[in-house]
Amino acid sequence: MTKIIVALGDITHQNTEAIVNSANPSLLGGGGVDGAIHAAAGPELLEECRKLGGCKTGEAKITNGHKLPADYIIHTVGPVYGMTSGHDGELLTACYRSCLDLAKDHLIRSIAFPSISTGAYGYPIAKAAPIAIEAVLRWVKDHPDAFSEIRFLLHSTRDYDVYAKLLGET
Ligand code: ADP
Repeated sequence: MTKIIVALGDITHQNTEAIVNSANPSLLGGGGVDGAIHAAAGPELLEECRKLGGCKTGEAKITNGHKLPADYIIHTVGPVYGMTSGHDGELLTACYRSCLDLAKDHLIRSIAFPSISTGAYGYPIAKAAPIAIEAVLRWVKDHPDAFSEIRFLLHSTRDYDVYAKLLGET
C-alpha cells in the first residue's frame, strides 16, 4: 500500500528518500525549485550533473542528494507549456512516470514531487495538477507495493489547495 499525501513546504527540507527536481534539459541548474535544490545540495551536485549529459523532456536522471536530507535527487524535465505541438499533457505524465520508474529501479521507497512545469515553464496549475495526480495514481495501481509514500510537495497555499481538493475527490 502506498500512502499518497499532499504537503506544503520546501522540497529541499523533505525527509523522503528521494526528491524530484524540475530541471531544464542541461541539468546544470536554473531558477525556481532547481536553483533551490542546487543551493541546498551544494556544488558537488553540479559536478555530478555535468557528467549526465543532460536530460530530455519527459525523461529522468538520478543523482546523489549530497547535502540534502534526501539520499537521492531525481531530475526530470517538464514541458514548456504551449511549446510541444500539443503534447504538453503526455510529456507531463511522462515526467511523473519516468521519475517513479527510475526511483523504483533504485529501490527507493519514498519520494516527494514538486509541481513540475507550473513555474517558469508556465503550465497552469489547474491543468497540471489533475494530470500529475492521475499519472501517479495510475502508476501506483500498476505497482501498489513499490513505494511506502509518494508526496506532492507544494510551495504555495494556492497550489496546495488545488491538490488537496483534487485528492480529496479521488
Ligand atoms: P518549472 O520550470 O518546471 O516551471 P519552477 O521551479 O519554475 O519549475 O516551478 C515549479 C514549481 O516549483 C512551482 O510551482 C514553484 O512554486 C515550485 N517551487 C519553487 N521553489 C520550490 C521549493 N523550494 N520547494 C518546492 N517547490 C518549489
